[in-house]
Amino acid sequence: MNTLIVLQIGISSFFELDNLYQVFVTRNKMLFVDDETEFSQKLSLFDYGLKVINRDSVIEVCLLSDKVLDERTLFVFDMNVKEIKVEVKRTVYQMLSRFFKPLSKWGILVGIRPVKLVHEMLDDDLSLDLIRDVLSDKYFIHPEKVALMTEIALRERPHLVPNDISAISLYLCIPFCPTRCLYCSFPSNDLKQKGKRLPEYLEKLAAETIHAVNHIYRLGKKVDCIYIGGGTPTSIDESQLDALLGMIKSHVNLADVKEYTVEAGRPDTITRKKLEIMKKNGVNRICINPQTMNEQTLVTIGRAHDAKSIVDVMKMAKEIGFKTINMDLIIGLPGETVHHTSDTLDKIIELAPENITIHTLAVKRASRLHEDLDYYELTHDQMVEEMMDDAELKLRKHGLTPYYMYRQKKMVGHLENVGYAISGHESLYNMRIMEEKHSIVACGAGAVSKICAPEENRFERVANFKGLEDYLDRFDEILLKKEILE
Ligand code: SF4
Repeated sequence: MNTLIVLQIGISSFFELDNLYQVFVTRNKMLFVDDETEFSQKLSLFDYGLKVINRDSVIEVCLLSDKVLDERTLFVFDMNVKEIKVEVKRTVYQMLSRFFKPLSKWGILVGIRPVKLVHEMLDDDLSLDLIRDVLSDKYFIHPEKVALMTEIALRERPHLVPNDISAISLYLCIPFCPTRCLYCSFPSNDLKQKGKRLPEYLEKLAAETIHAVNHIYRLGKKVDCIYIGGGTPTSIDESQLDALLGMIKSHVNLADVKEYTVEAGRPDTITRKKLEIMKKNGVNRICINPQTMNEQTLVTIGRAHDAKSIVDVMKMAKEIGFKTINMDLIIGLPGETVHHTSDTLDKIIELAPENITIHTLAVKRASRLHEDLDYYELTHDQMVEEMMDDAELKLRKHGLTPYYMYRQKKMVGHLENVGYAISGHESLYNMRIMEEKHSIVACGAGAVSKICAPEENRFERVANFKGLEDYLDRFDEILLKKEILE
């Protein structure tokens, strides 16, 4: 499919149709309008037009070029919102598939948490055979992805069910990095520009964390999982890190904590002393994220370290002795081929981390990569798929199996991000954040708390201010937000 104009009336963004069209249309070739006259006027400028119009529970879907190619009417009077959403997506998908090849193997599933759907069906006691049939026949998902989803759900299940609602995960965000990576879309702050406010930030973060933890204990609940992410948490200096982790140690009962992660991230921010501080304060899982071991790519993506420093830091971390070390890789980085990712994987596997997370490059609107896309050669979809297959084969061969996954918008090759682990090293926090069955209290700029109260059928997200300045200057409002835990 080349260019497409879409008229959508009475269809909420909740239907995720925008994402579904992306399965058929390559980037930046679509226009959305909500006015019939404008649609008619502009239709001739596009190769195809699609109308999805909902009027009083009668939904008309029509695909046209210079003539009508297909049109269907859906009567959705007795359906709930979820059923209508699936029905509309199925219809649009079937119509477009008649004329164009879908670019993704995920069928109508375009959300970021595909495995949640399998858990919902397992919760309803559906058999695995029936679940596989539903995923293929109703959601049009390719058997390869059906197998991946069900395998992951079954691996996650013992960690998530039964759901202990008294146990809460605690997340702290350090939104600072030494430089900004090419593909980054996080609201991370450049230390050189914003570092002056770091001490004040750490003070407020500690105050928010103590407030939140005390509140959790007042409610008779416990903290059983801690995750410090960012940004790059190890951007802060040794004494700041010692103070932060010391604060956590003196306010959280670490005897209850099964998993305590610091996303150390970039090797240029890690020192032996920082690793020792983490170890002494009870951290048992760290992430060291190379993304690639190719020197040229490291320069291209704006990392201020080389491949050797990744190996050195990893060896140091192994000597100090953390239970689990994760390493993140990205496939599809500009200029890389299957040879590059294969070489990266060999080098990483040799370092023997217990977790390896394979991300597919996502070209996010807020990234430098998106801004300067014309200057970079993106890897072709088919090659990214080959890279993913190669990675899976290598990792399974070395005893690492997939245990959690998620998808993002604008991923190269319409693929997914998959976390692999040696059995017994699956990250509790990663599984919990994806499957949303569990409460996470999040502190810091841009942090999003998720409160899950199944007994009240309640799932609520509460976001802190994203911007550093807002977080610091409107801190009283931040503390009030923690009351959602009630
Ligand atoms: S390390 Fe992560 S948060 Fe920091 S700039 Fe790179 S992608 Fe963004």
